[in-house]
Amino acid sequence: MIQISELQFSYPHVEGKRFELNVSDLQVLQGEHLVLYGPSGCGKSTLLRLLAGEIVPRHGQILHHGFDISKAADEVRRAFRIQNIGFVFQDFPLVPYLSALENTMLAYRIHSQLQLTDAVQVKAKHLLGQLGLEDKVLRLPESLSQGERQRVAIARALLTDPPLILADEPTAGLDPERSMQVIGLLKSLVEKEKRTLVLVTHDPSVRAQFGRQIRVGD
Ligand code: ADP
Ligand code: MG
Repeated sequence: MIQISELQFSYPHVEGKRFELNVSDLQVLQGEHLVLYGPSGCGKSTLLRLLAGEIVPRHGQILHHGFDISKAADEVRRAFRIQNIGFVFQDFPLVPYLSALENTMLAYRIHSQLQLTDAVQVKAKHLLGQLGLEDKVLRLPESLSQGERQRVAIARALLTDPPLILADEPTAGLDPERSMQVIGLLKSLVEKEKRTLVLVTHDPSVRAQFGRQIRVGD
């Protein structure tokens, strides 16, 4: 379970109006699917980054099963993230010179705490298969469609078996039909393993696929 209480966050001041995010109380239960929505700039990505411990609030708690990620040191947060969180980034591109399969296994190249074994490779292929990419695992991103690339990004987030998936506008740039397909696949894969999902979208038709919806900024 995730419990946020009395959270106050602001970015260091750059120019213009300083952005503030306050969340007095928010719970996400284990296995729950939650959608965060709201207009551009309202703080959706910021909230995901706080949940992932990439940034920390100046006040308040963000508990993951009782572990306060907002109080932990950088290295501890990083280790926690690698073990527990799969992030589908809005604008983190696939590595252009790596195949779909290699992109899926990217975390295993980057983080020494993850061991790239044959079993991981088999699992990566299996995941790509479940996402309908079985005959494209060796393709480079440039020869994949936008929707296929998003599915590789989803495979990448799921490969480490994280109990929590954070997805930042995973359907941005897709047409409505592809959006529904990507969301359907993401939901079914997350549901199957009873993972928790926090998904950001500004698309009302994507939002409609989820029971629990919270408007950021309210
Ligand atoms: P959303 O994802 O809802 O579109 P963001 O969470 O990305 O919104 O951004 C919320 C606000 O914080 C915006 O006003 C944005 O300009 C500001 N912001 C985002 N990142 C930074 C940063 N690194 N430094 C200062 N301000 C930022
Ligand atoms: Mg955003």
